[in-house]
Amino acid sequence: MFFGVGSSPARWLDFLFPPSCHLCRSPLQRGRYLCLPCRDSLPRVSSPLCLQCGFPFDGTQPDPTSCPNCEDRSFAFDFARATLLARDGARELVHSFKYERRLHLHHELASLVAEALDDERLSSDTNTEWTVVPVPLHWRRQQWRWFNQAREIAKTLADLRALPIHDALRRSRFTTQQTLLNRKQRLQNLHGAFQLTRREKRHHFLRGKAVFLVDDVFTTGSTAHECARVLKEEAGAEKVVVLTALRG
Ligand SMILES: [Zn+2]
Ligand SMILES: [Zn+2]
Repeated sequence: MFFGVGSSPARWLDFLFPPSCHLCRSPLQRGRYLCLPCRDSLPRVSSPLCLQCGFPFDGTQPDPTSCPNCEDRSFAFDFARATLLARDGARELVHSFKYERRLHLHHELASLVAEALDDERLSSDTNTEWTVVPVPLHWRRQQWRWFNQAREIAKTLADLRALPIHDALRRSRFTTQQTLLNRKQRLQNLHGAFQLTRREKRHHFLRGKAVFLVDDVFTTGSTAHECARVLKEEAGAEKVVVLTALRG
């Protein structure tokens, strides 16, 4: 593999792309890739939303504690919070980052994910010390893509908020692309797909800790559930909150 798991191709790719808005192409200051009007126009996830999976309602939902995605499920994570709805410019942004390898977008995406920290369940809690954990990719997929999009976002988010980042999980089984599967198949496909890293097994960094589990997109929650299950049951994490750029 050309890049080590711990290194960050996004850091030096920052220097290769001329600073202009990814969506409207207007020129920008160095290091920025979204102009303010385009950034402000991205569709935000806003209240009222499902208190488990973060699915936003149209404002008339009588019971904000459950939604069609999770009324018959119980997730291992405490709750999930995304910043953007997976449509329009928001979808294009993440798609370019992930599939067209526009790694220089990592900073914009991480600062958008950081908006989710304004959720009052997080902003009102100033005592908890959080550790950022990225959702891992299988090494074969990472070799093909040459980076893990979740880790790039997680690393920059950790830098922005002065939080520790810890690669506590590894993907031990290569799984079929989740996008082709229904919810039940996704869960079966993922069961046992994640394990703790050897380092976490040896040092128990996360025992009793609160974790921000970071990914690019939250769809059915199957991946986040399986990661959170391992973090709680095997690492002994006390709390897992899922943060993503998109809510699919
Ligand atoms: Zn723009
Ligand atoms: Zn829900």
